[in-house]
Amino acid sequence: MWIDTHCHLDAPEFDALPADAWHAEARALGVSCCVIPAVERANWGAVRALAHRRGDRYALGIHPLCVPRALDEDLDALDAALTAHRDDPHLVAVGEIGLDFFVPALIEPAMRERQTRFYRAQLRLARRHGLPVILHVRRSADALLKGLRERPVAGGIAHAFNGSLQQAQAFTAMGFALGFGGAMSFEPAQQLRRLARELPLESLVLETDAPDIPPQWLYVTAAERAAGRPQGINHPRELPRIGAVLAGLRGLPVDAVAQATSANARRVLPRLNLQADAA
Ligand SMILES: [Zn+2]
Repeated sequence: MWIDTHCHLDAPEFDALPADAWHAEARALGVSCCVIPAVERANWGAVRALAHRRGDRYALGIHPLCVPRALDEDLDALDAALTAHRDDPHLVAVGEIGLDFFVPALIEPAMRERQTRFYRAQLRLARRHGLPVILHVRRSADALLKGLRERPVAGGIAHAFNGSLQQAQAFTAMGFALGFGGAMSFEPAQQLRRLARELPLESLVLETDAPDIPPQWLYVTAAERAAGRPQGINHPRELPRIGAVLAGLRGLPVDAVAQATSANARRVLPRLNLQADAA
């Protein structure tokens, strides 16, 4: 069985697709559960409803890319939502939260400061509610680690991890697993593939990050797109094949990778162990 620890199934890209059929296909391929992180107050209801509808899980939070349009009062609303749904077994984490120091508009000093304030406030809420966090890491691993040292939380996942070995070890020492997905299926991603090969298996979880980060077999180049070939759409049904890539890199049987990464996900997101059926 596989667990997709990060997929934005509420994204508009999925609206035009046979979403239920694709989800059933993922289940049939052994993807037992998907974790759907929220990105802003406006989609908290949608991710929760979606998780309930198909027996998946969700997280509530404010994504760094959404911080520019978020209101300060959204943090109070997050506190209230985490209280309101504290007994909901489908709720497994605070997320997606973090820092993005790649997008130009987000690294202006004022916005950097605002991102940091939202990140710290959400770490505080995670601690208050006893929940792990799902972290967005983009050119920001050291700043995220600093925040965690100042405001420790009950671990979680550093999603789409692509940092150094040292940063990976710092996250795992604080109870985090590192999320790996389709990016490691690209041959030129040597540094990432080396991490996937060399990090302890206990520290890895799998994710599709659907609909973003399509794996190599779905990737369509700009030239191919211009010639009329549509961009492939990433979806949790790709997770077993992504898991097979990890198995290949590590020279392990695919089943062993499925079992280990699912156990890791249940360790860092303990509420995945609660019974949570479809509505
Ligand atoms: Zn995400």
